[in-house]
This record gives sequence, C-alpha cells and structure tokens, in this order.
Amino acid sequence: MRFESLNPFRAEQENKEQRKAEFAEFIKAFDFDKLKELIRGQVRPDHGDEISICPAEKIVPDFSGSSGEYKPETKIIKFNPDRIRDRADMIGVNPDIMFNHVLIHEELHAASDTPCDDNSVMVREFNVGFSRVTRIKKSPITITGIYKAWNEGVTESMAREVTHDYVTGTGLFSEENFDQYKKTLEEPSGNPEIPYAPEVELVDALIDRLADASDKDRREIWQMVKDAFISGEGFNSQDLNQLTREVLPDGFLADLAGASAKLTVRRLTAELKSNNKLGLLSSPVIRHIKRMVEGYLESMGKLG
Ligand SMILES: [Zn+2]
Repeated sequence: MRFESLNPFRAEQENKEQRKAEFAEFIKAFDFDKLKELIRGQVRPDHGDEISICPAEKIVPDFSGSSGEYKPETKIIKFNPDRIRDRADMIGVNPDIMFNHVLIHEELHAASDTPCDDNSVMVREFNVGFSRVTRIKKSPITITGIYKAWNEGVTESMAREVTHDYVTGTGLFSEENFDQYKKTLEEPSGNPEIPYAPEVELVDALIDRLADASDKDRREIWQMVKDAFISGEGFNSQDLNQLTREVLPDGFLADLAGASAKLTVRRLTAELKSNNKLGLLSSPVIRHIKRMVEGYLESMGKLG
C-alpha cells in the first residue's frame, strides 16, 4: 500500500487539484467568440452590439456553491464542476453537455446585464434581463428585486436553445446527443435537480396565453421576450408592454414581478393555464401581504 492512500487529506488535495485542472481545460477549450455570435443571432440586430459576456479570466471555480452563479456586482461567474457532475448524475444526463449548458445560462445573465444608473448617492440600480438589481453603495449588499423567477425562466429557456446551437455547431455533440439531453430535462418528472423546470413552464404558459389571445404566434412573442431580456427593457419594452396590457388580467404582472418562490411560480402557471382571472382568486389584501413576504424572501436571495 502506498503511503498517500493512508492520508485522506492529501488524497483529497490531489483530487481537488485534478478537478481544478479539468475546469481550466474546459474553459480553455470553450469558444467564447462563437457563444457571443450565437447570442447575437438570437436577438434583433440593433441589440447585438450592446452584448458583452464574461471572458475566461472572469470565470472562477467554486467547489462549495451552486452549479453556477453570475455576480452582477463584480461581473464574475462562479462555476462548480462537482455540483454539475452530481446534478447530471441525479438527472441522468451527459455531464459534459451540462458543463456547457450551465456556463451558457450564466453567460446569458452577463449578456443581459446593463449599465447602471449612478444618479443616486445611496444606491446603484441596473437591470439584468428582466430583474432589477439594487446595490447599496459602499457596502457589499445587493438586492435582486422583481421578476426574479420570470427572469430565470427566460434565461433558462434561452440557454437551452443556445446550448443546442453551441454544442452541435461546434461539433462537440450530435443532434441525437442533444435531443436526448433536452428530452430528459423536459420530461415532467418533478425531479428538483432539473434546472428551473417550474420557471421554464411558467414562461411557456405565459407565451401560450399571449399567443392565444392575440394575432401573434408563439415564435413572434418569444422573440419579443428575448429582445426585452437582452436590452434590459423588460416589460417596459414597447411591444411587450402593449401586448401584456391588452391580454393579461389586472394585477398579473405585479404578481409575476413578486414571484420568486417555487410555490408562487406553480400557482401563476396554473392560473395562466386555467384562464382564471387572478383578481377572483384572492382578495387584494391577501395578495398584497403575499407580495410583501415574497419580496422579503427574495431580498435574501441572489441570482442563481
Ligand atoms: Zn440563473
């Protein structure tokens, strides 16, 4: 028996070094120019020039956190290869596709980050996709307010499209490989390891509802959503604002803005699918209290 195997600390250290080397290799091989080009191809040409993504040196391995995380205050992506491998294992999908998928999801947060308004003495505020980030100046406190769940759903739906284009376009995986991967994510398995399944379902339900109630088709509406996401205009973008105002029941966007907990996401999805008017389901007072509680819980969270 070799001495090393009797020393668990040393074995763990060596293992960690090896995983760090694997991470470095993955980032080195990743084609950032290609990704940027693919994201540009997803949105209207006039939004394309504003897009910037995190370069390789701003992506750091973090073996203790969630699969991936974009930090708007430092413009850094944290990436946890161990967590991604475990997750892929528990879902039953190819971990190498998931490496690309998680990085692309986080890069889409970076791509939808917008310059901040620096008018106030106390805070800096800026949009990351549909969500609004408020940073208290001279302190590390960052609050991700409004449209948190919706923003994750849009990010993730788009990430699945871009990951398809990236892994098949670069020849890393075949169409069949990716189909298999995507199918497993889309199965209604209820597996909590599947990234943002309820949020993606919410996005689908809202687009269906808007398509049903207007003369626009799903594809057109999804395009509007993607443009509003990348530009950071969110529901203030002209076409989306007009469409949602015409179609959605009063108070729906306020509820959507406040939604961050999975339970709320599922309730809103069910309501969109059942065509109920939200106002009839709960009194304004109860909805107001719910929003306050969700807002508080959300202020404890961050972009995942
Ligand atoms: Zn995210």
